[in-house]
Amino acid sequence: MLVYLLPGTFDTREAHLDLLWEAGATGLEERGPGIRVYFDERVTLPAEVADGEWHEETEQDWQAEFKKNLRPVQAGRVTIVAPWQRDEVPAGQIPLVIEPGMAFGTGHHATTRMAVEALGDLDLGGKRVLDVGTGSGVLAMAAAKLGAAYTLGVDIDPITIPIARDNARDNGLTSGIRFEEGTLGLANGGLDDDAELFGEAYDVLVANLYAELHDLLAGEYAAVTVPGAPLVLTGILTSKLELVQAALAREGFEDVQVRTDGEWVLVTARR
Ligand code: SAM
Repeated sequence: MLVYLLPGTFDTREAHLDLLWEAGATGLEERGPGIRVYFDERVTLPAEVADGEWHEETEQDWQAEFKKNLRPVQAGRVTIVAPWQRDEVPAGQIPLVIEPGMAFGTGHHATTRMAVEALGDLDLGGKRVLDVGTGSGVLAMAAAKLGAAYTLGVDIDPITIPIARDNARDNGLTSGIRFEEGTLGLANGGLDDDAELFGEAYDVLVANLYAELHDLLAGEYAAVTVPGAPLVLTGILTSKLELVQAALAREGFEDVQVRTDGEWVLVTARR
């Protein structure tokens, strides 16, 4: 990729930006110490914008930069790493390997991190865990690694399912974990064979969705879990917390506890 690095900002060089477009620029970006101007080929530039420098950057550099900046994520007892970071898991931590950039759920989002932490606070030994909106499969896999006997991850987006299955294989999780396209509640777009898919009631339910969907699904959460089962719900903006609290109260959930990370909230509750 050919980049012309021009000193200044969009503001200070406003009068010159048109000259760059006229010279054949394919894109302009204000980043770092100046303006990055993208070209398909080197061109002779007018004197007003001749104070920059040409750079040849390969796509490979961007990949390397991305990989270098991606840090392992410690979430309670679990450390989530990319495949090339397997050696960076601290002793005593449970490793969870996720190929980044494939589906939501690398652990870098506060909601995923809080949910993995909250799962680590539960005694999952021998339990049946349901993960609604599994994405990369991160929460289902965390539950499996934390001792769950059976974990089902469902997602309405079919693209996520093979990604989650690949991630599970990469983590050596070959039994007691299943990923399927589906959701809770026919009214919310569930598949016809959902009853068969979900099977017996679950001991724990985790869902990183969004507040409005938790509101719609709260009754389904009650229907697919055993009495007393902990719920771990996130994807909730602080401004929408009351909606989720009201939905949980409506469906008879108690012991509602809230954790916050920036603008994001995680709620746990039991019925
Ligand atoms: N569980 C992962 C995590 O915690 O990082 C991914 C969470 S991502 C925020 C939400 C996921 O929920 C997406 O993969 C999306 O396709 C899925 N989703 C959205 N609406 C859904 C629904 N009604 N039922 C099931 N999955 C849904």
